[in-house]
Amino acid sequence: MSVLVVGSIALDTVKTPLHEHADLLGGSASYAAVAASFFSPVKLVGVVGTDFPAEHLAFLQGRNIDLTGLQHAEGKTFRWSGEYMLDMNTRETRSVDLNVFEHFTPTLPASFAATPFVLLANIAPSLQGHVLDQMSRAQFVIADTMDLWINIARPDLEALLKRVDMLILNDGEARQLTGEHNLISAGHHIRAMGPRYVALKKGEHGCLLFGPDGEFFSCAAFPLENLHDPTGAGDTFAGGLAGYLAAHTTGPITFAQLKHAVVNGSVLASFNVEAFSLERLRTLQKEDIQHRYEAFRLLSQFELSR
Ligand code: AMP
Repeated sequence: MSVLVVGSIALDTVKTPLHEHADLLGGSASYAAVAASFFSPVKLVGVVGTDFPAEHLAFLQGRNIDLTGLQHAEGKTFRWSGEYMLDMNTRETRSVDLNVFEHFTPTLPASFAATPFVLLANIAPSLQGHVLDQMSRAQFVIADTMDLWINIARPDLEALLKRVDMLILNDGEARQLTGEHNLISAGHHIRAMGPRYVALKKGEHGCLLFGPDGEFFSCAAFPLENLHDPTGAGDTFAGGLAGYLAAHTTGPITFAQLKHAVVNGSVLASFNVEAFSLERLRTLQKEDIQHRYEAFRLLSQFELSR
C-alpha cells in the first residue's frame, strides 16, 4: 500500500561545528518521502520554486516517488538555515525564507484522495487539516508537528489532533503542548487530546510509544559516533515508520506492528544523520537497513512478536 506525504520541500543551509553546506535538499516532506520509499510507494504533495534543481527532482523520481502532486510555483523555493552547537543536539535557526511556501495550499490530485496511509509531515496544522478534508478513506493518519505551531497555531493543532491516529513529536514539544514535565504523563495527556497513538522522540535517547489500554514501548536510539548532520532525523523517522506500516499492514494496525515500525523508523533516522542532507539515503540499500535492524534488536535485547 502507498503513503501520501505532505510537507515542506526546502533548500537548507546547515552549519555544524566542523562544516557548513549551502542549498542542500531538505524539508520535512523530502526526508519523509525518501525514507518511506525504502518500504512502499510514495505520493508527494508539496511546492517548489523555479530555482529548484532538476537533479533533486530526478532523485525523488528515481526513488519511485509520485510527483503528480508537486506544485511548481513562480518564485524561489522555501529556504531554511540552521546551526548546530558542539553537542550536535542544540540547534539555532538562523533564517527562514518562506518564498513560494508562503502561499502554499496543498491540493491533492484526484488519484491521491484514497491513499490508505497519510503522513502529514511538519507544516502548519491548518494545511495538514486541509489535506484531510480532501481525503476519502485514509486508513491511518500520522501527523508530525513543531514548537512553532504549538506557539502560534495551538487551536488549529488541537483540532487536528482529533482527526489523526498518531502524533509524532519530540520531548520538548510534548512538554510545551501539555504543560507536563514528566514525559509519561505528557504521552498520556496527548492521547487524551485525540490520537490513539503517540510517538514521543527523545533525540539520542530514543523514542517512547504510547497506545490505547496502557500499551507502552520504549525504543533505544542506535548508538552512533559518526554523527554529521542531525537535520531531518525526525522526518526520516516518521517517513520510515509510515512506509514500513504501509508495506506490512494487511488488517487493522496493531501495537506490535507499530513497535516494528518505530524500530524501522529509528534505523532510517540513524543512517540519515551520518551525512549532510539526504546524502546517506542516496546510497543506502535494503540490506543495510536489515543489518542495522538486527543489530538494533540484539543491542536492545528485545523480542518483537508479530
Ligand atoms: P528537523 O530536523 O526534523 O527539525 O527538520 C528539519 C527540516 O525542516 C529542514 O530540512 C527544514 O527545511 C524544515 N523546516 C524548518 N522549518 C520549517 C517550517 N516552519 N515548516 C516546515 N518545514 C520546516
